[in-house]
Formats: sequence, structure tokens, C-alpha cells
Amino acid sequence: MVKKKKRLKKGILFLLVIILTAGIAGGYYITTRHNDIEEYNVDGLSIQHQFLTVNPYSRSGKNLPRIKGIVVHYTANPGSTAQNNRNYFENLKDKHTTSVSSHFIIGLKGEIIQCIPLNEIAYASNNRNKDTISIECCHPDKSGKFNDETYQSLQKLVQALMSTYHLDKNDIIRHYDVTGKSCPKYFVDYPKEWEKFLNSL
Ligand SMILES: [Zn+2]
Repeated sequence: MVKKKKRLKKGILFLLVIILTAGIAGGYYITTRHNDIEEYNVDGLSIQHQFLTVNPYSRSGKNLPRIKGIVVHYTANPGSTAQNNRNYFENLKDKHTTSVSSHFIIGLKGEIIQCIPLNEIAYASNNRNKDTISIECCHPDKSGKFNDETYQSLQKLVQALMSTYHLDKNDIIRHYDVTGKSCPKYFVDYPKEWEKFLNSL
């Protein structure tokens, strides 16, 4: 009877070791797959992970220790897709023309590509890079107005991030609010539309 108990204990211990090892190995596997496309579903949102290669021009790999806000941007490139913009960020590692990136890009069909993990800083919002998540939005024309698909994904993504990081409406800002830059243009040109967006969250 005693021996059996000992064997059982050993068995349980063995199983625990296996489970723990598999867990650690599993986590490692995910983090090393940063260049592959993975699809995640968060609160009914489909988010495609296409993390950039770590490089000084678009993904520094520097830690983002706390998240105090979300900054909304527009791409300033009418008609370009989320994938186009993601590829532009990625190619900066070879072109070295500028340093820019964003955690998320929302496309014209409402698709969402995540370029940077949320525990790393992106290069989008100047002196607020250190404590905010950035979202770039695609737009069909020069007015910078988001179409319905992009707008709705932005609402859902911001709402999901607000609840994850315990943020309120005052923490959701435009790039304009950081630097005075006309970004996102439509929400700078029409402040009432920005108010409407904030009130919809
Ligand atoms: Zn911007």
C-alpha cells in the first residue's frame, strides 16, 4: 500500500514536469514564430499577428512597461492597405529611410494587423511612444475619413484595449493631441466627429 502511494506520487510529479516543460516549450515556440502570420480572435475581433523583425528602424524591441493611453493615427496614404503599410514598416529594416511603426494597422476592409507586441514600444507617437499603444487607420481618399469597416474595427479594438488596460475615454487621444500634427486628419479637421467617436466607446 505504501509503495503504491509512493509510485503514485512519483507518477504525478512526472506528469507535472511533462506539463510544465510542454508549457514552456509551447511559449517559446509562439515567440519564435514572430515572422509567421497567426490569426487571433479577441472579443469577436480578428487580429492578424505579423510582428516585424526586430530592427532599429521599426521594432526596437524596447520594453513598454506601462500603458496609459491609446493614440489614433491615419496612414496619410490614401487607398493603401493594412498589408501595404505593414510591409512598409518591415522594409525600413533594409531601407533605413526613417524610423516609424505602429502596434496595429486597421485596413479598408476592417482587417487588423498587429505589427508590434503590446509589451514593446512602437515608433508612432513621439514622446508618448513610451506609454501608449498606437493604431494606424487606412483611409480611401485624401479627406482622411475612415470608411465604415475601418471605423467599426477601430471602435471594437479601442474598446477591447480599454477594458484590458483599464483606460477611460480621456486616455484615447489623437496624434494631434501629442504633437499638433494633422493626424488623423479627418478627426483634426472635424473635432465634433472625434467627440462622437469617443462618445461611442
Ligand atoms: Zn500619426
